[in-house]
Amino acid sequence: MELFVRQSECCGCEACKNICPVNAIQMKNDAKGFAYPEIDEDKCISCGACQRVCPLKGEAQKPSAQKTYAVKHKNSGERKSCSSGGAFIEMARHIIKKGGVVYGAAYGENFQVSHIRAADKAELERLKTSKYLQSRIGDVYSQVKADLNSGLPVLFSGTGCQVQGLRSFLGKDYPQLYCVDIVCHGVPSQKLFDDYIKYLEEKYKSKAVSVNFRGKQVKNVVQDMLVTFENGKSYSCAATFDSYYMFFIKNFSLRESCYECHFSNSERCGDISLADFWKLEKQFPEFQDFKGVSLVITNNDKGEKLFGELKDKYEIIETPKELAFAQHPLRKPFAKPQKSDLFWNTYLTQGYKACVKKYNSFPKLKNFIRKHF
Ligand code: SF4
Repeated sequence: MELFVRQSECCGCEACKNICPVNAIQMKNDAKGFAYPEIDEDKCISCGACQRVCPLKGEAQKPSAQKTYAVKHKNSGERKSCSSGGAFIEMARHIIKKGGVVYGAAYGENFQVSHIRAADKAELERLKTSKYLQSRIGDVYSQVKADLNSGLPVLFSGTGCQVQGLRSFLGKDYPQLYCVDIVCHGVPSQKLFDDYIKYLEEKYKSKAVSVNFRGKQVKNVVQDMLVTFENGKSYSCAATFDSYYMFFIKNFSLRESCYECHFSNSERCGDISLADFWKLEKQFPEFQDFKGVSLVITNNDKGEKLFGELKDKYEIIETPKELAFAQHPLRKPFAKPQKSDLFWNTYLTQGYKACVKKYNSFPKLKNFIRKHF
């Protein structure tokens, strides 16, 4: 039984692991730190379910009617604590209020990112803010199915491949399931991120205690890294100057499948799609205040209805679709840079610090790196 030939044919969504009836599939990390499924041939009964469930092999759910909105939470505190405009957190709270549960990516011990089940408002706080890593699904699809079969409303948020992985695993629609796909640039590995944190810990001579990819500490910058340390110091840096962010933005550090992503287009598989509304100021300068604005795309009646129930929580403008869909990951995946293999070779043979020296240089700009102690 072969699940993929080239690494780019596996997005790591773990649908195959969840569906296997005899638990024959385990996820194993490659040298770069990306997880791939491995079949235990002694356990496998050759049922073929793992191949059939793969979201990269089947047809993804298509939108039926799309509308695009620029959205800001009316509460400025909420907006500050969220990644973009605070659209997601209200959707999640709404589901909890209905007695449902919400699934999404959260940090665990040592900043390991995985999907968790949140059943109350306190747990929802862990789902706030973007994590620029591939979240591990574990057995979450099976948990979602159990919740749906017991009649609970469920909101599942994840990347396009994770949402379609869930849909494919479930094999049918549930009226009380709401899928929110996060418009994704691609995912770096947890291993690279762990080494980045170690690199900062060495520099600051202290253990990191919190990480926020959207610290919102740098004026007029929506993407900035904020790491705080046990010794009370903190590292705050705009994305354009931070090494981990730059390896990500320059597309060096993405999973192989991300360069051929099946979900980086306008045909979204979620009921709702969420992103930052980049370039909004081109047509709506009065709405753009650089404190984070969400792009909300409703892809069908179910998504539009959920969003409609929350409209009093937000400032909203409906925008032209061309403006919303002008964003790169809503048109096509990012191309693999020529230097990507060299980058990984440096990382694997010489470590993270060597990558910082070789691939994170800003000759004209480095004097402007912002640091807060
Ligand atoms: Fe599991 Fe069936 Fe795939 Fe074998 S073929 S790994 S038993 S899902």
